[in-house]
Amino acid sequence: MFRDSPHSESETEQRVMNGVTDMNSSQLIIHNAMIVTMDKELRVFLNGGIVINNDRIIAVGQSSDIIRQFSSNSQEIIDLHGQFLLPGLINTHVHTSQQLARGIADDVDLLTWLHHRIWPYESNMTEEDSYISTLLCGIELIHSGVTCFAEAGGQHVSGMAKAVELLGLRACLTESIMDSGDGLPSSWGIRTADECIQSQKELHKKHHDTADGRIRIWLGIRQIMNSTDDLLLQTRDTAKQLNTGIHMHVAEIPSENHVVMQTREVDHGTVTYLEKINFLRSNLLAAHSVWVNEKEIGFLSSCGVKVSHCPAAAMRMLGFAPIREMLDANICVSLGTDGAPSNNRMSIVDEMYIASLINKGREVYATGTTNPTILPAETLLNMATINGAKALLLENDIGSLQVGKKADMIVINPSSWSMVPIHDCISNLVYCLRTENIVSVMCNGHWIMKNQKIMNVDEAEIISMAKNAAAQLLKRAGIQIPKRMNFI
Ligand SMILES: [Zn+2]
Repeated sequence: MFRDSPHSESETEQRVMNGVTDMNSSQLIIHNAMIVTMDKELRVFLNGGIVINNDRIIAVGQSSDIIRQFSSNSQEIIDLHGQFLLPGLINTHVHTSQQLARGIADDVDLLTWLHHRIWPYESNMTEEDSYISTLLCGIELIHSGVTCFAEAGGQHVSGMAKAVELLGLRACLTESIMDSGDGLPSSWGIRTADECIQSQKELHKKHHDTADGRIRIWLGIRQIMNSTDDLLLQTRDTAKQLNTGIHMHVAEIPSENHVVMQTREVDHGTVTYLEKINFLRSNLLAAHSVWVNEKEIGFLSSCGVKVSHCPAAAMRMLGFAPIREMLDANICVSLGTDGAPSNNRMSIVDEMYIASLINKGREVYATGTTNPTILPAETLLNMATINGAKALLLENDIGSLQVGKKADMIVINPSSWSMVPIHDCISNLVYCLRTENIVSVMCNGHWIMKNQKIMNVDEAEIISMAKNAAAQLLKRAGIQIPKRMNFI
């Protein structure tokens, strides 16, 4: 599907060797594509073209106009032969460090999940494990059309950053932050609030705005039951100081709300308490937010808090989040996969589909009647693109295909058994699209996957490294997975 450049390679090389630094020195046209821009007017070009100069989009329009105006100054012209072009998808809640833990905690209760599987796993991770885990996770993210993600909080941010830089992805990375809590592995050693803040300030200094601006460092709060008020308030103030975001698990399970009600003397739960201490801000990304009441939805809305809805993980472990009510209250809701031990599939393509079904199904339980019109396909595409960008405070740069934004985009081949016939291309993108339909992915003006080949790492080598590292890590952590069925 990629056509050769109309200019010979020697011609391009010549320009570089002669030191030509004009604005057109690395200009690319992609045309003959159905372009779903996800801009404010939700424009879709049936036969569109886009021009990319270095890392930014400089024109979007009808294919014929784009070719006429820009082809003479472009080094490469790619004909997509009617394939679809969309903004890169954005995963707003993923634990890259947990990728090596896929399958270690399936079908177990929450306490076993946390105390006997995840904490021993995470507390035995090395920086190298985190690097390999993030590489493996990143490969899956790229295959599923993700160009940008928000890390939910892991132990070795430097390992993650190294992997993100290599893969060519964009990410908001966060350290796993706790300064209190029962039952944590003794080897972990609880840090004070001051130590937590200091560590994150150092990470910010070291990694923020690195990898050509693709890496951002955020502040983290693992969850309220592992946080003192001192940590919460210092986090709020430090985020303001550093002009960055805060990523926190919020109102995940009913017992979280009960603990907060008992220990912090409020009449409902986490969100009510966070409002009380003036923690809620528009730079807060609240993951899950399942157990929130009407009043708390009002707090999230009036404070501009962003919500990451992780439908698969919610169904497995948490419950039904009131997403329709949050959208009705104008809350910016985006989509996340959560980590591999909570979901197993790190695909936003799957999450769009699951979110649609779960929230349609929930209507029966919430209102007593069916309503298949809620969360239509365009809302889900919005959640996976521009709302994701807003959640990550990056809406001026990514989330839609518009002039001036970064060239983060994906090419979709709709001509497969899973998607044809296409009577309604927008609904097909949510209800029929599979990860396998995503053929190429560009981030920051560079192809990071081309014709389903990951460009910057050797996929087979990473898979082999990951299998090895995962086996060693489980052995070190003493995690044993009980056998199922009758192995002979
Ligand atoms: Zn999470």
